[in-house]
Amino acid sequence: MTQDTELLDVSEARRRLLEHFSPLDVNFIPVTAAIGHVLAEAIKAPYDLPLFPNSSMDGFAVHSADVAKASVEHPVALHVVGDISAGKVVNRVLQAGESMRIMTGAMVPEGADAVVPVEDTDHYPQENSSIAPHVVRVFRPTDQGGNIRPVGQDVRQGDIVVQAGQFIRPQEAGFLSMLGQTKVPVHRRPRVAVFSSGDELVPVDETLTPGKIHDANSIMLVGLVERCGGEAVYLGIIPDRPEAVENILEKAVLADVDLIVSSAGVSVGALDYIRSTIEKEGKLVFWRVNMRPGKPLAFGYFRDVPFVGLPGNPVSAYVGFEIFLRPVVRKMLGTREQGRPTWRARLLEPIDSDGRESYLRAIVSWQDGEPMCRLTGHQGSGNLRSLVRANALLFVPSGVKYVPSGAQVDVLWLDDW
Ligand code: AMP
Ligand code: MG
Repeated sequence: MTQDTELLDVSEARRRLLEHFSPLDVNFIPVTAAIGHVLAEAIKAPYDLPLFPNSSMDGFAVHSADVAKASVEHPVALHVVGDISAGKVVNRVLQAGESMRIMTGAMVPEGADAVVPVEDTDHYPQENSSIAPHVVRVFRPTDQGGNIRPVGQDVRQGDIVVQAGQFIRPQEAGFLSMLGQTKVPVHRRPRVAVFSSGDELVPVDETLTPGKIHDANSIMLVGLVERCGGEAVYLGIIPDRPEAVENILEKAVLADVDLIVSSAGVSVGALDYIRSTIEKEGKLVFWRVNMRPGKPLAFGYFRDVPFVGLPGNPVSAYVGFEIFLRPVVRKMLGTREQGRPTWRARLLEPIDSDGRESYLRAIVSWQDGEPMCRLTGHQGSGNLRSLVRANALLFVPSGVKYVPSGAQVDVLWLDDW
């Protein structure tokens, strides 16, 4: 049964939609497979980083007092009593008058309180020599602690180093690995079924016959799902027939997905069967949003599986995904931030709007460091080229019918590749 057929505001529709979703269950997975997942619990450092004092330069470990007066005219000569490469340990306390050759990342020997860079010694430019010299002459002082990375400089044991809700990017994966986290708690990635509907659609690898068009939405929506962290389950294209709609929705249920997303067939056309199928076999929660593009957007359930029917026009489908489904996928993933970053930019041309909340295709560029934006051409929601040219969506609030050139506007930044 239809619960609600009113025309909803964007923020109200998004709020109602998001209420139906929660972060998915938590599993421990190998850190090596965790990139693209969202951390479910804060991680505390089990040990300091650096774990041991180590050299930040290739050079010579010394007592800084020994080289305090070193100069090119009066070099200080030190006995070289050890040679420490990264990963090696020398168990000998450095005495006054002594030095040890040391490589970047190698453990600083006990007794040493500075590392003289090889460039400040007579061992340069033979620093790659496999044999350390017996004596090194130092040309320049190094302060106490100089070129030594002390214990805990980066991280203290017990610090919370990565927060719950953080996307695991390559840098988080590297960092968690440095902290010995073999397995990390992450939310399961949502499985999202995607299909396209329309008698006019043929896959990209099939020949067009009169009246037909190639399907753009399937690949676009699969890509959007994957790019925002979900796992897409592509189900194909269906014709405008009620049995086809039911069959594919059944298939999605069997595929054990967390969300079903379709495009087209939810408007008021004679062959738009998707909405009626949802009403018959599940529940329609709402189906119209007061926005441009993308008004015919349906949300409900097929059996117990959440379903979102996006409009068919490719630009509308894209914008509908950005405004409604990105936050849904992100919420299931467990991220703290669910939307895209919004910026302010100066408008370079006047815009007429129809009073609906609008998301127009725009290009942002910088002039003298100031972000400026203009539209990317014809804003028809079937014209995908306008989106290909865009790097942002320009936001026009509801109730606004005209925005003058020079006004400050909000833009949603789209370019993350
Ligand atoms: P509909 O929502 O079924 O009325 O479709 C609206 C418009 O979007 C029509 O011009 C369709 O041909 C077009 N359309 C629907 N699905 C797709 C698709 N997958 N790829 C490209 N265009 C589509
Ligand atoms: Mg159609």
